[in-house]
Amino acid sequence: MNPYTPLPHDELRLDGKTIVIDRVFPTQVIFHQAGSMESKEVTREKFDQLSKNSFLLGAALFRNNEQIYPTPTPTTMPTPEPTLSGSHNTHARLSPSDSKRWTNCTASIAFQEANAHRVTADDSEYSNEGTEAHDWATKLLLGEIGPIDIPENFRDPVLSYTDHCQSLVVVAVTTSLQSCLDDAALGFDPPTDVVFVEEQIPLYYQEEQTGTADFIGLTATDGIADRLFVRDYKHGAGVLVGTDENTQLAIYAYSVVKHLSAAYQFPDDCPVDIAIVQPRHREAGDPTPWVITVADLRTFCEDIEYRAIQARTAAERVRERIAPLGVDVSNKEILEAAPGAVFAPSEGDEGACRWCKCKAFCAVRLAAAVEDCHLPSMSAEDMLAAMPTLDKMESKASVQGRIELVANAIGCPSHIVTDEYLVNLVGHAKAIRSFLSDAEEYLEERLLAGEEISGVKLVDGREGNRDWANEVEAETFLKGQGLKEAERFDFKLKSPAKIEAVLKDKLKASTRTKNRFEQLITRSSGKKKLAIDSDKRDAVAPAVAMMPVIDDFEV
Ligand code: SF4
Repeated sequence: MNPYTPLPHDELRLDGKTIVIDRVFPTQVIFHQAGSMESKEVTREKFDQLSKNSFLLGAALFRNNEQIYPTPTPTTMPTPEPTLSGSHNTHARLSPSDSKRWTNCTASIAFQEANAHRVTADDSEYSNEGTEAHDWATKLLLGEIGPIDIPENFRDPVLSYTDHCQSLVVVAVTTSLQSCLDDAALGFDPPTDVVFVEEQIPLYYQEEQTGTADFIGLTATDGIADRLFVRDYKHGAGVLVGTDENTQLAIYAYSVVKHLSAAYQFPDDCPVDIAIVQPRHREAGDPTPWVITVADLRTFCEDIEYRAIQARTAAERVRERIAPLGVDVSNKEILEAAPGAVFAPSEGDEGACRWCKCKAFCAVRLAAAVEDCHLPSMSAEDMLAAMPTLDKMESKASVQGRIELVANAIGCPSHIVTDEYLVNLVGHAKAIRSFLSDAEEYLEERLLAGEEISGVKLVDGREGNRDWANEVEAETFLKGQGLKEAERFDFKLKSPAKIEAVLKDKLKASTRTKNRFEQLITRSSGKKKLAIDSDKRDAVAPAVAMMPVIDDFEV
């Protein structure tokens, strides 16, 4: 709107906030925010700038309760949307949650996009459960429900997370980034302590995409940030997610710093407190934050941005140069189309390949898994392909015998399979097994989806254990057969793990109870097993080395 001449009682409305003009002088304007007693006086020049900014942000002007700018267009009432967590959002191409992968393996985005037809959907039961847990946490943090409304199977972990978040910024306004920016644009100081729940944040390395942060808290004094908190809820109990140098959370944190710097100042030494909350994992314990200054976060995130540029450039080059889609594209073709990109496989829970959608057909990953495992007479890939399945009798042979059988089957004299070779092979066993199991799972998923793949088929697996179809009927029948109660039922003390969950609060509250509980538990010592030299655990002596030396016995 150009130019806007304010009149007393005019209302500027933006994102649920209303600024009311009180008085207008040739050189000053006095206004207040609806619902607040505090008025603000600014120069006419300043007011013109603020009102121009707010119109650019989408503010509407009301005079005598009628909207006069922008001219209203008749609309149908939208159906209100239920509150959902950001876990429902589709992921950005360089999404923060995948950043562990694309910051390490910058070719992976291009590879995945070029092979989109080979990638199977990952809408698993576990991810659906995680999404539901996020939804309950969001509703609770927004005050839409109370703890009792959360279904029992989600209640404990969700409350651990929400209690933790609520303890970080005690008296806070729950708001949105946009609202803070609007306040700043309208000349108001943004709130002192704020929290943002499931906030969509424009990503600092690609503003057109957003990432959803589970929880952000900010404490500030006179518009200067004192501490920024970032929390991420993980519902999974399987893989423990590390907090230190977590790229996903660093991206959220730095995106908030960049985006909110129009409303708050973030000094270089302002602490940024980042943590994962994963209450269902047995090793998780209380969240241990990774605390970093804004200056160090900036340096860390500049490196992520550099990787993002590499990954995005590679994806764009591949899209321009490799067509048509729907044809398998090899790693080699990707590198030819985008020479700056890098395939960098890394295994394990923290590795880049763990969550990669191409892990079952990535030749670079397979090559890394079997690196140096080739025999003098054949490559490791050929050897894997030639490995026979031993029959029942052959499987019962000694280890030495089985190695010889396999060596013969792949046309290799067994003396070539030296200790040195075997040690090397065992060192790669985890990566090879992981690749094989991913390949099996991938092929099985496609068959289950109805695809036909030459060389493999679906068969019926082993039947499950027998169970009573109807326990009440079964018990009546067994009673009728004259079986006594002790013959019909097993009555057994619950395991320490199950009791620990029941006694959780008491064990936390009393060291005496905890000590007594632990004294009552016994466990058999672990069986000695093979590990490679780089394993973190200390080497132990074999049982035979602990036996007394025969010469020490007196005869
Ligand atoms: S499987 Fe590993 S190496 Fe291959 S594209 Fe994925 S992350 Fe990169």
